[in-house]
Amino acid sequence: MIAEGGCLCGAVRYRFDAEPTNIGYCHCSMCRKASGSPVIAACTLPRDRLQMLQGEDALVRYPSSPAVTRLFCGTCGGHLFFDIPDEPDTIDIWLGSLDEPDRVVPTFHIYAADAVAWHRIDDGLPRYPAGRAK
Ligand SMILES: [Zn+2]
Ligand SMILES: [Zn+2]
Repeated sequence: MIAEGGCLCGAVRYRFDAEPTNIGYCHCSMCRKASGSPVIAACTLPRDRLQMLQGEDALVRYPSSPAVTRLFCGTCGGHLFFDIPDEPDTIDIWLGSLDEPDRVVPTFHIYAADAVAWHRIDDGLPRYPAGRAK
């Protein structure tokens, strides 16, 4: 799959050529706070298949825990990537940053135990109370 994406203001643009894996929703409290939304969705890509088209210097890196650094646009705040130091060969992309998010379809929920109570989910996908092995 070849796909492109970017942030809200357009300063940061990326492109990848790979089949996304590990496509799922995350309900954890850190993603919730980072996004201001009840849930986010993300996928994993081989790092060497992700190409920054522009705006790499506009990315702000925020280490929200030792396990995850979050990358977002310093101008508009649009979240784009998770950088996981323990997984140097891959990078995770937030699906909402894709130009055509319909093409990458989530297959599970993680941190479902932390999901907001009023967020009703009836999609039938597997729900993991915490994380899951990739
Ligand atoms: Zn931006
Ligand atoms: Zn999360």
